[in-house]
Amino acid sequence: MSCNYADGLSPYENKGVLGAPESFDSREDVERKCLILTDWIKTAKHVVVHTGAGISTAAGIPDFRGPKGVWTLEKEGKKPDINISFNDAVPTKTHMALKHLIDKQIIHYIVSQNIDGLHLKTGVPRSHLAELHGNMFIGQCDTCDCQFVMPTATCTVGQKELGHFCKREVRGRSCRGKLKDTILDWEADLPEKDLEMSDYQSSIADVNICLGTTLQIVPSGNLPLKCQKYGGKLVIINLQPTKHDKKADLIINTYVDDVLELLMANLNLEIPEYCSEQDPTKHQKPLDVVNWDILKVDIQEFKKRYEELHKEFKDKKALQKKIQVPKKRVKKNENRKELSDITLKKKPRLSRTINTRNQKSNKKISTKKCGDSESDEECFNTTRSK
Ligand SMILES: [Zn+2]
Repeated sequence: MSCNYADGLSPYENKGVLGAPESFDSREDVERKCLILTDWIKTAKHVVVHTGAGISTAAGIPDFRGPKGVWTLEKEGKKPDINISFNDAVPTKTHMALKHLIDKQIIHYIVSQNIDGLHLKTGVPRSHLAELHGNMFIGQCDTCDCQFVMPTATCTVGQKELGHFCKREVRGRSCRGKLKDTILDWEADLPEKDLEMSDYQSSIADVNICLGTTLQIVPSGNLPLKCQKYGGKLVIINLQPTKHDKKADLIINTYVDDVLELLMANLNLEIPEYCSEQDPTKHQKPLDVVNWDILKVDIQEFKKRYEELHKEFKDKKALQKKIQVPKKRVKKNENRKELSDITLKKKPRLSRTINTRNQKSNKKISTKKCGDSESDEECFNTTRSK
């Protein structure tokens, strides 16, 4: 049960803004905005989706900061009424639509903060999914770091021993390392490979789409902003206001399932039904090791793409500096006017409004999972270096 997950975490004071009122765009506005989103997705080369607890509420799993969220109710000494077991929960329309969009290469990567395993259950390949806070159905060996899919949700949280040993063969011998759950407690380090991949994917995206998250947890909540430095767009689809609404290029306030339904219709695609045949948690003998690792070769590929993009950005910036002419000189010399116009035309791509702190994106973001506070922002901006 997701409440057991919440109960298993250590006490943590700063859980961010809780229970903010939800708002709904009119149907007409939702349809109009979905057409814009469809157009952006169709013309984009790389689309990344960032998912939070809001996409799993339709599966019966409560969110955390909504009006009836786990942390919101905790403050009132209550627990959510609706609460399904992780083992019984099945992917929602949004999860299934995302899987289909990945298959069609219309969406290229999913970065999830969710631990419920619902993306995994759709059958989405590991090469297209990062799970920054862990997964109830994934175990990890403390010796070889191998990750594997488990047939049932873990009963532990906080990377504790599962009481079993790793069966992976290393040089003809069984590894025998201790298996642990992958669920992060507050302030635990995020999984390195998932975070690195998310960082590159979010940076190279033409569009980062946030679904069902208030973007309050760092570093996860700041990743969608990364593309804006390189001219990419930020789209937020959520019922409550989010931490980064002011920076968004498009905000849709309605249910994520409704947006995905409209988007799929605009793209002439059907949302597939959940199929247990494709669910890797359903076809295993207990403790069978099914590899769930991010491959180094995939990380290298996206690191290269990120570095190329970053170099292009730096070169353009250097060129812009070269051709930029001080204003008073332009006034004195009519011939300079043309040059000034060129500079102005170039400005929108290079000088998008970005939080100056985030411009230091060469600096590594913190790998710690923490809540929303000024000190957390500091932790986002200062603790990682390349
Ligand atoms: Zn091992």
